[in-house]
Amino acid sequence: LVMLLYLTFKNLYGTKHPQKDKEAEIVDNRVKIGFSLGTLKEERWMKDRDILMAKVKDLGGDIIVQNANNDDQDQLKQVRYLLDQGIDVLVIVPNDLEKAAAAVELAKRQGVKVISYDRLVLKSNVDLYISFDNVRVGELMAKYVLEHVPEGNVLIVNGATSDHNTKMIKEGYDKLLQPKVKSGHIKIIAEEWASNWMNEYAFRVTDELLQQGNAIHAIIAGNDGLADGIIGALSEHRLAGKTVVAGQDADLAACQRIVEGTQLMTVYKPIEKLADVTAKMAVKLARGESLDIENSIFDGRYSVPYYVLEPIAVDKNNIDETIIKDGFHMRDEVYRNS
Ligand code: BGC
Repeated sequence: LVMLLYLTFKNLYGTKHPQKDKEAEIVDNRVKIGFSLGTLKEERWMKDRDILMAKVKDLGGDIIVQNANNDDQDQLKQVRYLLDQGIDVLVIVPNDLEKAAAAVELAKRQGVKVISYDRLVLKSNVDLYISFDNVRVGELMAKYVLEHVPEGNVLIVNGATSDHNTKMIKEGYDKLLQPKVKSGHIKIIAEEWASNWMNEYAFRVTDELLQQGNAIHAIIAGNDGLADGIIGALSEHRLAGKTVVAGQDADLAACQRIVEGTQLMTVYKPIEKLADVTAKMAVKLARGESLDIENSIFDGRYSVPYYVLEPIAVDKNNIDETIIKDGFHMRDEVYRNS
């Protein structure tokens, strides 16, 4: 009996729990990702957050998310917090293209790898930059504008100068617009920059130009949030649907405007792809595996690996086979009035 009791006890409470030890080890080996977002203001960032969280979990990792609400100091503090939590990889959407370098440096000093997500952090030698081709975004906008307004006045409302994407988008549309400016077909009547991508600012500049009696035939908006402000001003002057407006992000409101005819086009960036690649690359980096990236981009000091994704131009003709087919938005939400 004593022997039986001893064996039972040993089986149940034996000092060695090989299975348990193994589990503990697996738990310890779980990859931990820190995701620092500069903002959650635009609709897209919520998708970025939710999809990246799901993807990292699918790969067996953990993720902690922080949002800096457009505040550089807060972003730095939040990155410090993420590092204190023992993250293996930092995924950062910089609020400011240069100031965020301090956060990257902090991570690198602790041996934490860094992915610059959607927006590039300058002069900081990140381990990887993953984004949609932002130069292409600008080209697609200008291509649409020129197809509909081969001659006329164009207003440009760019996003924040603190965002490197703003520069890349400008590079893209300038490539197509500048030759037309030189040939006298296109006149840029104003070019503005909206700090923090504020759509109220876009409303105001458009409204002012119209009040001064300027004829505006087409408008390039840095994103759909700015397009929203612009089209608000156009409607006050009964010009919504008459002036051509191009944006980016495929916000739900923008898709509704496209099918209703007040916005011509948007540049659709399937966030799922961006989040998917990022989750995979982050796990690889965390495990010390090497990445095989073909492209690179100059960050002002270093050439960094650049994983490029293709943005897609969407207008009312292909919205069904792109945005709706992908489930980016539901059909009945987009076509709310039909
Ligand atoms: C992103 C856009 C976004 C904008 C404002 C840019 O860096 O590429 O998709 O609308 O920031 O948050």
